[in-house]
Amino acid sequence: MLSPIDGRQLTTLATASAGDVDRACASARAAFEDGRWSRLAPSARKVVLHRLADLVEKHAVDLAVLGVRDNGTEISMALKAEPGSAAQTFRYYAEALDKVYGEIAPTAANVLALVHREPVGVVGAIVPWNFPLMIGAWKIAPALAMGNSVVLKPAETASLTLLRLAELALEAGLPPGVFNVVTGPGCVTGEALALSPEVDVLVFTGSGATGRRLLQYSAQSNLKRCYLELGGKSPNIVFADAPDLSAAAKAAATAIFRNAGQVCVAGSRLLVEASVQAEFVSVLAETTQKMTVGNPLSLTTQIGAINSLPQLEGNLSFVTDAKNEGGTLVAGGARTLTETGGWYMEPTIVTGVQPDHRLFREEVFGPILAVTPFATEAEALRLANATDFGLAAGVWTANLSRAHRMIRGIRAGVVHVNTYGGADVTVPLAGTKQSGNGADKSLHALDKYCDLKTAWIQL
Ligand code: ADP
Repeated sequence: MLSPIDGRQLTTLATASAGDVDRACASARAAFEDGRWSRLAPSARKVVLHRLADLVEKHAVDLAVLGVRDNGTEISMALKAEPGSAAQTFRYYAEALDKVYGEIAPTAANVLALVHREPVGVVGAIVPWNFPLMIGAWKIAPALAMGNSVVLKPAETASLTLLRLAELALEAGLPPGVFNVVTGPGCVTGEALALSPEVDVLVFTGSGATGRRLLQYSAQSNLKRCYLELGGKSPNIVFADAPDLSAAAKAAATAIFRNAGQVCVAGSRLLVEASVQAEFVSVLAETTQKMTVGNPLSLTTQIGAINSLPQLEGNLSFVTDAKNEGGTLVAGGARTLTETGGWYMEPTIVTGVQPDHRLFREEVFGPILAVTPFATEAEALRLANATDFGLAAGVWTANLSRAHRMIRGIRAGVVHVNTYGGADVTVPLAGTKQSGNGADKSLHALDKYCDLKTAWIQL
């Protein structure tokens, strides 16, 4: 494994073969069947998940540094987004697990109908490299809270924090066999997990291409339910009547450039009202040029490393294509800090991007912003929805009615108004269209990890 910080070898990781994955799934199944966790009293499960949250908090700095060396996210963000939100997620589901339970249905008087909420069994989880601990916790915490066993495969370029989490889970008192981590490439280890007949539910965050494959693996194996959180090409829409255009321009830069754009909800398409485009883009470009790209372990770095060399090369190909298609580069566009041996890219802004351009249609997952002007609210809405994705959006306007019209009109899982990127564990993140299905976070996520069973009793 190479570190994105300097391109040097960080460590080596085992590749779990199909046989290893089978053993992990069998261990998860055995743990589930014997009830060491699945039949533990909810109050006891709650204690363990709280202890795990405590341990994640206790080791927050170590976990953040380990993760940054592995995936290149700037440490200021990693501290909050990784151990910070993982601990919060474990706590939230620890608290929730004995407040969500079955029902008695309103049947006729001679019948008693109970709706049981049962754990599904073995949950397979496949997660990406951008926020492994946070996204991992979004899957692991509700799955464990409901009494399931978990087999998780981290991304091959960011496995270390989740391996450490497995150690902390044992220390917290989670019985052995309940939470298993298998490392290795997607095409070996991931594929074996997705094909396993022991996996009842598969939860995933990653690319649309892999999401499609997972549905095929499900069809080829046991029809396991698949919940996919896929990519985005999220519009950040700025109207001329935004309360503070300068603040909106600064927020637009953060919306795309934090974690070097390697964020599924990144505001990667800026739609800006034509009458203010010149002024807006000038503040945006000035803000962008002042952003520090650098060693992600430095607290002053605002834009860290690109996770892998192929990812960096892919980003650069988007810049070339954008220029060839008629876009205008107004900031960045190149690899930088090559002397470090690491993988860094300048924050990049391209104006004049049209709906048929590659940069408008495809997710980059890198620090590249596509700018497209619009003339009317109707055109803004049409451009916002002119995408296969439906993950996130931003709307900047002082007009309350317009804000609500846009919220209703935009097909996306989250619409930010006069901000971009706020969220916490209490609200769902759930894509529409080709951004996926099924919510992470909030009480709604628990439904993915439960089966409903009706007991119909004639009295
Ligand atoms: P990203 O663009 O975020 O790297 P990927 O979909 O390639 O998105 O990777 C997300 C996760 O999916 C990683 O853990 C990766 O190893 C895994 N993965 C990739 N290909 C497959 C596959 N064919 N089967 C199962 N998992 C896969």
